[in-house]
Amino acid sequence: MTSKPDIRSFDDDALKKALVDMGQPAFRSKQIADWIWSKGASTFDEMTNLPQGLRLNLEAGFGLHPIAPEEEQVSRDGTVKCAFPIESGKVVEGVLIPARDRMTACISSQVGCSLSCSFCATGKLKLLRNLNAGEMVDQVRHIAMLAERHHDHRLTNIVYMGMGEPLLNYKNVLASIDRITGTPGLGMSPKRITVSTAGIAKMIRKLGDDEVKFNLALSLHAAEDGKRNRIMQINESNDLASLRDALMYFNEKTGTRVTFEYILLGGFNDDIEDARDLARFAACVPCKVNLIEYNPIDDALFRKADARKTDEFKDLLEDKFNMVVNVRRSRGEDIDAACGQLANKNKLATGQG
Ligand code: SF4
Repeated sequence: MTSKPDIRSFDDDALKKALVDMGQPAFRSKQIADWIWSKGASTFDEMTNLPQGLRLNLEAGFGLHPIAPEEEQVSRDGTVKCAFPIESGKVVEGVLIPARDRMTACISSQVGCSLSCSFCATGKLKLLRNLNAGEMVDQVRHIAMLAERHHDHRLTNIVYMGMGEPLLNYKNVLASIDRITGTPGLGMSPKRITVSTAGIAKMIRKLGDDEVKFNLALSLHAAEDGKRNRIMQINESNDLASLRDALMYFNEKTGTRVTFEYILLGGFNDDIEDARDLARFAACVPCKVNLIEYNPIDDALFRKADARKTDEFKDLLEDKFNMVVNVRRSRGEDIDAACGQLANKNKLATGQG
């Protein structure tokens, strides 16, 4: 790994300054940013509208290290998972989830995770490091290509729901969204992007202060503190009352409806009383609920809720509490690409073996 500064870590102002310091006209920085963020250049040599002398100077002075998938697995349901090697054998995963009305990229924000949610394979891996903005944009760019290649359809949505807790990598996640939505960049609408958090109240409030335009999802999974503490340690320091206040603040500042993600764990949180708890909690903000089928991981403590329970749960939320509810069927289960399964099979590659 080179010690040259990574040119993708420069924001637009810093890049302009670096170019001017090199005796170049300021407009060169726009051309370079366009190559990096819109065209996905992986070498300075590709930047053919720059003079060759400048390309050589850039090569000598800066690093350019995009990540690209090395391994691709295609599920029988059309889901595609790819492994992106990072330096020193570390790996992160991104997933393309095709559906009738959308093509979604599920991307990772950290290598491993520090939060240890008990139903999640990634939580069994140590946090090794945050991804930088460019590494998140690279996942989107490559998964967009997979959508075209495998399904002849453009990418429509992005969820930060892969490995890691995005709000614990706040600055880089927001910088990546700037590049995904901006010019130079990928020019996507922020309304097509959802950041999913396990629940860091302080950072949810910060999203409100920053008046972000993208969507927010809370991985709730239990709406009673004792129960939530058992599956998500983060709830011990960020309890439901603090999350409720933070979500209300977020909604007040942004006007954006919140999504509650709720994995149905058979015999644990799939009862009618759990549905009532969920409805009571979710009433704090305009919202919708995604009920997610659980995918057992290798040493699973839980099982999938049965279909009858899932239907009863959904019906109660819809009929009695008038909520907007979607059931998200399990996708990519055969390639360990489903919700909570990422990195289960990459323990060695991420240094956890
Ligand atoms: S569910 Fe999310 S926050 Fe919890 S351990 Fe898994 S990756 Fe980390």
